[in-house]
Amino acid sequence: MVRRVPILVYHHVYEDDDPGLAKTKGTKATGTIGVSEFRRHLSYLAEGGWNAVSTTDVVDWLAGRGELPERAVALHFDNGWLDTRTITLPIMEEYGFKGTCYVISEGTEAASKGTIAAIHTSTEGAVSKPCITWKQAEELLAAGWEIGAHTATHPRLAELLAQQGEGAVAEEIDGSNRAYASALGFVPSHFAYPSGSRDEKTDAMLGSHYRSLRLWHFSRPQVWSFTDRSTSPMALDCQNVDNTVEFEDFQRIFDEALAE
Ligand SMILES: [Zn+2]
Repeated sequence: MVRRVPILVYHHVYEDDDPGLAKTKGTKATGTIGVSEFRRHLSYLAEGGWNAVSTTDVVDWLAGRGELPERAVALHFDNGWLDTRTITLPIMEEYGFKGTCYVISEGTEAASKGTIAAIHTSTEGAVSKPCITWKQAEELLAAGWEIGAHTATHPRLAELLAQQGEGAVAEEIDGSNRAYASALGFVPSHFAYPSGSRDEKTDAMLGSHYRSLRLWHFSRPQVWSFTDRSTSPMALDCQNVDNTVEFEDFQRIFDEALAE
């Protein structure tokens, strides 16, 4: 019986010789990983008989509305960076895996107009990098992926709430949902917290719009915590994976997920 479901959170997958990859190595989470290491991860999952399930599958399971296959794992790709479409998707397809891409609506809106939005992230600071376009988001959907919500501008929501009040948080939710609905024809069911910044009040505000809210956190050395049957869908736990995670620590995610 499935007890714990790893939810792996990636951000950028870069070619091994991409300079953006080398310079971000360090002791903090980097949000980047090279193609060969990413392939090593997916090969490990495939050879170990892990089944990539959708976020909806996980949330249905938590709601008692369905079972998961043994060795279920979910693969999340945050922010909607262009490399999710150009590099990650083709590699995932080689393995027959599908993921969820959490899209920052203004990043994707900008990309769709041929420009680049400045986005602030915990791992990279303020960056201007290309995001997927709405058309590319449709391509992910056509490949069987899910699109999740990730706000309009990627603010730290608990801090935004404290500094600017509920109206500012509501605008992030409503503004992004309008963009998703207009471009894709639906509002995503699942939400991921930018930089993991949340509190009870943001949970309550977001909980009336989405079926699930996903956390984000990292530690070094890595202490893995999991989504299990008792996890609230309003606090899906996950494992941040990037090029600071040694392969033995990556393997340990799955050993711990299967431990009694
Ligand atoms: Zn993010």
